[in-house]
Amino acid sequence: MSEWSNWSGSVNARPDQILRPKTEAELGQAIAAARKVRVVGAGHSFMPLCETDGTLLHLADLEGQVEIAPDRRTVWAPAGWGLNRLTAALWAEGLSLINQGDINPQSLAGATATGTHGTGAELGSLATQACGFRLAMADGQIVECGADLLPELYEAQRLSLGLFGVAVAIRIHVLPAYHLEERIERRPLAEVAERIDELAAATRHMEFFVFPYSDDVIFKTLHPAEPEPGFVDGNDIDESAFRFFLDLGKSAPVLIPSLQKMMMLVQGKATRRVGPAYRIFPSDRTIRFEEMEYEFPRANGLETLKEAMAYIRRKRLPIAFPFEFRLAAGDDIWMSPFNQGPGASISFHQYSKMPWQGAFKEIEAVFQAGAGRPHWAKRHTLGPDDVRRLYPKTEDYLRVRAQTDPDGKFINGPLASLFGV
Ligand SMILES: Cc1cc2nc3c(=O)[nH]c(=O)nc-3n(C[C@H](O)[C@H](O)[C@H](O)COP(=O)(O)OP(=O)(O)OC[C@H]3O[C@@H](n4cnc5c(N)ncnc54)[C@H](O)[C@@H]3O)c2cc1C
Repeated sequence: MSEWSNWSGSVNARPDQILRPKTEAELGQAIAAARKVRVVGAGHSFMPLCETDGTLLHLADLEGQVEIAPDRRTVWAPAGWGLNRLTAALWAEGLSLINQGDINPQSLAGATATGTHGTGAELGSLATQACGFRLAMADGQIVECGADLLPELYEAQRLSLGLFGVAVAIRIHVLPAYHLEERIERRPLAEVAERIDELAAATRHMEFFVFPYSDDVIFKTLHPAEPEPGFVDGNDIDESAFRFFLDLGKSAPVLIPSLQKMMMLVQGKATRRVGPAYRIFPSDRTIRFEEMEYEFPRANGLETLKEAMAYIRRKRLPIAFPFEFRLAAGDDIWMSPFNQGPGASISFHQYSKMPWQGAFKEIEAVFQAGAGRPHWAKRHTLGPDDVRRLYPKTEDYLRVRAQTDPDGKFINGPLASLFGV
């Protein structure tokens, strides 16, 4: 018996064994011999997606390398590599990912499997960048799928939650390597809300962080730029000051509204830097938190954010972390929360040392009233009826699962409850 926990510490499991196969043959044998299998990437999901009492697989050591297509528009990449390793390897070859999220330790497979996304009104999630998969199936055999090869398996696998097989390599769209200019500044929420369409159109990536008790936001944009000397790695949030305020707020929650106003004097100072895209996108997140995120039709995003902030203020909920507001393009992936057109995304966090369950339940009701659908990797309380109501393709998804994994080797208890299978 082994022990495993996710990044935030809120999911704990006791797998029979944790294996790190080095070759595809070893991987195939491990899957064929196992009763139950889940794969873990970097364990950054807040939902119990990787939980298992069977075999837990890590693929970071699996053989494989980046294979660049002759037209340099796509690459096959090892699915278990962290985005940090992958983006550095791509940069060395003069290539970049189309978009990235806030951090980069996630595995390519884990990020794709959950629809992980960054920000950008015209840019889809990482799952939209994937156009082919090499999967080890329940019998341990390797199968390839893409839009023209086993198309139904491909459609389901595009946002898979690890239900169809173990991804060993993923073919992704890439761009010629580019630099980004990052700008961070403090702005009034009222101004950002009024000018949101203009601000979203002005740069390739736009997002903001807003504390529930502050009227200002930390406004962040990224835009392609010519290289400049003097690049330094850095964070969008000053974590040392933030940790100090969080610990004070945890000891005296009544101080949180005033602490957040003080925080905004420290955070959101105007800064600018230019650097390689793969080093500008990610920040370090060393302060542990728990997170719920819902995705909305873009027109509902800001109104729902305002509702959620008003609710927290009215009830004086001790929420220590800021909301994060981002934009994403619509897509056509069966189980993607962005598959109904242009989207807005609201992340709601709480310091992991403070209670989060009660507030998450209350704010989830606000998010659902705004026609939101949850990020699959982050806290939500959907059940099988909700999933079917929100996703017309659920039955197709589950049919492909039943065909490819008839004995349910790849499903765990929480996912079986979620889908009612
Ligand atoms: C600090 C932090 C910041 C984050 N920032 C963002 C963000 O900016 N944007 C965003 O959208 N999300 C964000 N997330 C969520 C995160 O991107 C997702 O939880 C993502 O799935 C994590 O990747 P992982 O490699 O840790 O996957 P894991 O949590 O390890 O696994 C996720 C799922 O993928 C499956 N899986 C993993 N590897 C394989 C494989 N080889 N084959 C088949 N299935 C596999 C697992 O079984 C599981 O179902 C963040 C999370 C944290 C903790």
